[in-house]
Amino acid sequence: MDTIATRLGAVHARIEAACLQAKRPPSSVALLAVSKTLGADAVEAAFDAGQTRFGENYIQEAVQKITALRHLPIEWHCIGPVQSNKTRLVAEHFGWVQTVDRLKIAQRLSEQRPAHLPALQVCIQVNVDGGPTKSGVAPDEALALAQAVAKLPHLQLRGLMCIPEHAADFVAACALFKRARDLFYALNSSGLALDTLSMGMSADLEAAVASGSTMVRVGSAIFGERHYPA
Ligand SMILES: *Cc1c(COP(=O)(O)O)cnc(C)c1O
Repeated sequence: MDTIATRLGAVHARIEAACLQAKRPPSSVALLAVSKTLGADAVEAAFDAGQTRFGENYIQEAVQKITALRHLPIEWHCIGPVQSNKTRLVAEHFGWVQTVDRLKIAQRLSEQRPAHLPALQVCIQVNVDGGPTKSGVAPDEALALAQAVAKLPHLQLRGLMCIPEHAADFVAACALFKRARDLFYALNSSGLALDTLSMGMSADLEAAVASGSTMVRVGSAIFGERHYPA
């Protein structure tokens, strides 16, 4: 069986190949290891293999791991939905939150960020394929939200993230990712200084890198298939 270190190496090789293809330097794409549903032992194994950024979806589960692994210099990203009653846990435990799609949530995160911690690093989640039930701000509302979030004192707006529906093929995946990239460029043209475009997962990271992603979020290709508790 492949170890986490072997799989991590294979993911780095995929990112490098995709960067080469896109004529981008490999250092322009960061790897976020998505460790949702896995134990602290799996995170530690990936950390020992050189991985320092981890993404978590379920806040209570994440806080347990963050607490257990607080001796390690890990950068923790919240990539799951954040309800109002969970903002305090996020503000107190994470370095980043990538799923801000409402000003009210951003305001609570800023108010609740402990004074001794650096600003919480934030991405706005954009719903690029327009599904009405999905999270993420509509693309035409992203600029107004980004400008409001950028003014909050204890947050630092870093960019955009998106989770498009699984596309039929490479070309279709690129078309969706490019909507996020175009919005990212437009926000920067209107005066924001964003450096992070978080998109691409195990199945579609090549299309995301070809379309300008600066951070891919990869779970199953590193840790194997997830087993959800019944
Ligand atoms: C689970 C998840 C990922 C990783 O998905 P894989 O297909 O396992 O790579 C990335 N981003 C988000 C928001 C997720 O929930």
